[in-house]
Amino acid sequence: MNNVSGGRFFGTARLLWVCLVLGSPAVLAEWQRDEQDIMGTRVTVELFAADANSGREHIDSVFAEFRRLDQMMNPWNPSSELSRINRDAAGDVLVTSPEIVEVLVRALKYSQMSDGAFDVSFASVGQHYDYRDGKAPSQNQVEEGLDEIDYRAIQLDPERRRIHFLKPGMQLDLGGIAKGYAVDRAVAMLYRAGVREAIISAGGDSRILGGMENRPRTIGIRHPRKDGEYVALIPLADTAISTSGDYERFFMDGDVRVHHILDPVTGKSADRVQSASVLAPQAIDSDALSTAVFVLGVESGLALINDLPGVDAIIIDGAGKLHYSDDLLRSVASE
Ligand code: ADP
Ligand code: MG
Repeated sequence: MNNVSGGRFFGTARLLWVCLVLGSPAVLAEWQRDEQDIMGTRVTVELFAADANSGREHIDSVFAEFRRLDQMMNPWNPSSELSRINRDAAGDVLVTSPEIVEVLVRALKYSQMSDGAFDVSFASVGQHYDYRDGKAPSQNQVEEGLDEIDYRAIQLDPERRRIHFLKPGMQLDLGGIAKGYAVDRAVAMLYRAGVREAIISAGGDSRILGGMENRPRTIGIRHPRKDGEYVALIPLADTAISTSGDYERFFMDGDVRVHHILDPVTGKSADRVQSASVLAPQAIDSDALSTAVFVLGVESGLALINDLPGVDAIIIDGAGKLHYSDDLLRSVASE
């Protein structure tokens, strides 16, 4: 197996092109694993610890970190910092937390790079969807909300940590980037505590610290239409991988799949692809980019990814066909 592009491992051609379904790797006694529902998703931690007690402490510290960030960034919790921004940033210039600033700086960067396909102000329309109850906004609500989806109207002064909305009805939701940020924070925390092999996942966002017993870990790209099946298996180490899919949170309205990733141009579910996976060194980047690529579709999505060194993508288009970024294709061809 070859080791290409900065510590990541990509599989043999066979691994990438043939659909294989393998069982999960054997979990040794020193590996510990636990999961909890936080940030509206399943957070899973698996790590290699010196002993059971320290392993438990490490895992609990990860969950505590996720809860801390959820308390700050959850738009549905009225006492969160993000809710305060959503309430007051149109009327006032607010000073906010360094972490919200850090996430917003990155979010705005990807808004610019994707020409608005990624836009955390999608929430002025997005807040009217309820996927569990099968509820979509009326055409009126979509039209009214669309005016307020505009990342250029988020005025951010990172140095002074000031934020101000230039449009009154503007609402932010960090659901496309906050989980990646939390995964990065948790990995950094584990590393500082001496952990060298771990995987942390929050829904579709994962980051692998080290590998598995000094070897890469096999990560599966889910089949978007067949539960429990994979379309590709990739051996990876020391990387983040995020997948945005139209099968995560959705309901059917006739034959229209209404799901949780919105095209800011229409205010409706983006329908160019079924799934977009992005590999990057950090999960904050893979998270935002997988959402951006999902909205952009195959051609513009790959153009965006191919411009970013060290970042790769695997896209499943509307017909179920796989598409790979240039580096990934090259690494397959060279084997
Ligand atoms: P998941 O949340 O399932 O891991 P994604 O990373 O693709 O999947 O993020 C989807 C979430 O991103 C949505 O639930 C919503 O909170 C947010 N979102 C939806 N559309 C956009 C968009 N165009 N730009 C930024 N964020 C978005
Ligand atoms: Mg994402």
